[in-house]
Amino acid sequence: MKGSCACGSIRYELNDRFLVANHCHCSICRKVHGAAFGTFGHAKADAFRWLQGEALLTGYRSSDGNVRNFCQVCGSNLPSVFSEMNYVRIPLATLDDDPGIQPLAHLYVKSKVSWFDIADCLPQYPEVVDLRELVKG
Ligand SMILES: [Zn+2]
Ligand SMILES: [Zn+2]
Repeated sequence: MKGSCACGSIRYELNDRFLVANHCHCSICRKVHGAAFGTFGHAKADAFRWLQGEALLTGYRSSDGNVRNFCQVCGSNLPSVFSEMNYVRIPLATLDDDPGIQPLAHLYVKSKVSWFDIADCLPQYPEVVDLRELVKG
């Protein structure tokens, strides 16, 4: 499946299924997305590649070891690749194709904005949880 930023300068491809997806209500996700929460799919980095415009990527280091990539031209959030962990985190809304997965939880709900009510039945966690544990059930 393929994805891109709003201006189309940067394009990427994931040749694998997502392992898991989640919503995140933490303040950094809210601010970088300019939205009530961010939604991410998680996959293996060796199935990911940039197709176009990688030179236009820039990153914001929001915490140690966590870089949030975005497009220098349009500011869209873009995937972050953590090669040493064979892990890529993809803002799900930047995909142009169906991700083939549904988010399974809300994380950092303690930081949720007051003006948005979670109306689905997904589990809500006050902070982060190990998503791999949720997948195992
Ligand atoms: Zn762009
Ligand atoms: Zn977050």
